Amino acid sequence: MPRLNFRDITAGNAKDYKSDLFEYFAEDFFKKKGFNIIKLPARGTDGGADLIIIEPLIGKISSSENRWLVSCKHSVHSNRAIGKSLEQDVSDRLKKHNCNGFLGFYSLGMTESLREYLDTTLLKEGFIWTVYNYVRIEREIFEEPIDHNWLKTYFKHLPLESEYASPKKSYTSLNCSSCGSDFLITDKEAKLAAWGMGTHCNVFEYVCSDSCYGQLEHDVLVSNWDDEIHHWEKSLSQVLSPMGYKDFFNNFSDDGGMNKSSDPRAGQNIKLAMSSIHQYMINGC
Ligand SMILES: [Zn+2]
Repeated sequence: MPRLNFRDITAGNAKDYKSDLFEYFAEDFFKKKGFNIIKLPARGTDGGADLIIIEPLIGKISSSENRWLVSCKHSVHSNRAIGKSLEQDVSDRLKKHNCNGFLGFYSLGMTESLREYLDTTLLKEGFIWTVYNYVRIEREIFEEPIDHNWLKTYFKHLPLESEYASPKKSYTSLNCSSCGSDFLITDKEAKLAAWGMGTHCNVFEYVCSDSCYGQLEHDVLVSNWDDEIHHWEKSLSQVLSPMGYKDFFNNFSDDGGMNKSSDPRAGQNIKLAMSSIHQYMINGC
């Protein structure tokens, strides 16, 4: 059950001095998450960017960063998900602002057509993208210790602090190929793994834990084929991150590198994983 009412934040088209409050909320939200903000919300034309935020990526040997162009859309008052007509020329906007990622910060959500548009135009040009909808924003706020005073700036209808306990998870379940147990798409240890030859994917499975992964790997590798095995694997949390999703998409979408499934089970599992992941990206569940 949602604990934040995004209608508490004034609508963007309101003739009110608070009409850009949702952008300030976005700025605060990302600051608290440790991003550096390099462009502050300003009124008037913004060249298609509300904010630019820098995500530091600290590696063991070297470090880099993602530079995200943030598009804030506060459509909860009109109750309409953001479609592609409201997010045009995304790759031109990224180039113009020298960003490598597009981040939609939406008080409601996105449509399937926008998801398709971002996949087809951005991933192929080497950009990454992600969307924060109301479910994800709320979840990430409540995952951290709550700053009640900060939240009160934006939300007048806050739950009591005693109601801050984590909500019941309701995300899509998948069944572990090895032990058969149900696991949630957000489980941290869960993994996706594929084996194939060339562009053919012969095995595509998901497992709930490292030990189930060991069993699966054993079963796959002792069976039939010996050489030139192409192997791909990612944890589910990686696939749900922008870089991991790009990699997953580039391998298993219709014209991806491993898209031809020579085994019906593999084909079916790819479809199921794809649709669960899309579902998660569009609705946060
Ligand atoms: Zn398992």
